[in-house]
Amino acid sequence: MAAGVFSVDLCLEDGRCAGVWVLDRGRLHLVRAGSVILATGGIGQAYLRTTNPPVATGDGVAMAYRAGAVLEDLEFVQFHPTALAVKGAPAFLLSEAMRGEGAILRNTAGEAFMERYDARRELAPRDVVARAIWQEMAASGDGHVLLDVTALPRRWLWERFPLIANTCRGYGVDIAVTPIPVAPAAHFMIGGIKTDVYGATSLPGLYAVGETACTGVHGANRLASNSLLEGLVFGSRTGEAAAAGARPVGRRLVARPDTRGPRTVPDATALRAVRATIRQLMWEGVGIERTGSSIRRTLDGLARESWLNRAAFGSREGIEAQNLLLVATVVAGAALARRGSVGCHFRRDYPQKGPHWRRHITVRSG
Ligand SMILES: Cc1cc2nc3c(=O)[nH]c(=O)nc-3n(C[C@H](O)[C@H](O)[C@H](O)COP(=O)(O)OP(=O)(O)OC[C@H]3O[C@@H](n4cnc5c(N)ncnc54)[C@H](O)[C@@H]3O)c2cc1C
Repeated sequence: MAAGVFSVDLCLEDGRCAGVWVLDRGRLHLVRAGSVILATGGIGQAYLRTTNPPVATGDGVAMAYRAGAVLEDLEFVQFHPTALAVKGAPAFLLSEAMRGEGAILRNTAGEAFMERYDARRELAPRDVVARAIWQEMAASGDGHVLLDVTALPRRWLWERFPLIANTCRGYGVDIAVTPIPVAPAAHFMIGGIKTDVYGATSLPGLYAVGETACTGVHGANRLASNSLLEGLVFGSRTGEAAAAGARPVGRRLVARPDTRGPRTVPDATALRAVRATIRQLMWEGVGIERTGSSIRRTLDGLARESWLNRAAFGSREGIEAQNLLLVATVVAGAALARRGSVGCHFRRDYPQKGPHWRRHITVRSG
């Protein structure tokens, strides 16, 4: 897809994906294709705090859902435990390597707390550390804990973590002197568009790869750096499979998706407000810890924003907001359906795995 061109919806012909509707400089075009690969990244923007870039609005997942493709494992959203938590700063990721090198997590009273949660302390898995931090934040009422590397020599710190040291300095934190305020942030979408190990989705002609896809390889708790698989293994496999499976490009006229002629045009302020509401609702109700009632509250709140999906309009920002609303709703629905805790999905009301933990939760429209 050319730079700046924004994909809106998939075009279906005879039950097969036959192209993509795109917005280019405000105009809607159909790009026909023998096969289509979605590689639109994650959904982090559905959460108040995220390490993801602004483009991570779940567009591919939303497009695939609207086209009737099967989605899977949506309840598995991985939270990174340590992202910078300084007012006005983005949730910049502070790598696990810091804890690997001896960084200590302290609550705002200065106590090193990890040993109360797990014998592996700072080296426990991401989900365990994220939940421990979450509980410390709840207990203190503060919006962060502290990542303390002040026992390590300044020069070594700057050599080992130059980007982190420099970024923190930009926000007034000298990491050699001051423990760094950190809090968890939504980081990686494990679930997504269900694919086989060659990127094929349930919809003929449609393939997906990268964070938007769900191959199943990450289980319920992706290991750090395993996204390399998505590029190195599934990227090439999917490309080859999509090329081999391509059909001749059709020429029939097809209906445009309803992106024009808005009945209600949400202005930029209204769109920002909707996005902020979605992010807050997901953070509070379908975040690091969930319960049936917190998820239902989020679903109720999302339903109140559903006016947005009735307002068709042609701006990229508007479509992204619609996609976020849709994706948030299906993620919350999957989290409600899984009555058990496994990997990065933790239900406080069902803390055990439960008998059906190996089952996948799948979703499709219609
Ligand atoms: C801060 C950070 C650090 C990370 N560190 C690591 C690491 O050390 N090791 C590791 O393995 N993984 C890491 N990850 C995870 C990994 O980087 C991501 O999972 C991976 O980059 C996702 O790649 P992708 O190609 O699926 O999506 P992206 O790289 O997000 O690319 C998606 C592309 O699709 C475009 N797009 C989206 N929607 C549309 C649309 N509607 N129309 C047209 N284009 C669209 C976007 O503009 C973007 O160019 C990290 C992630 C973050 C955020």
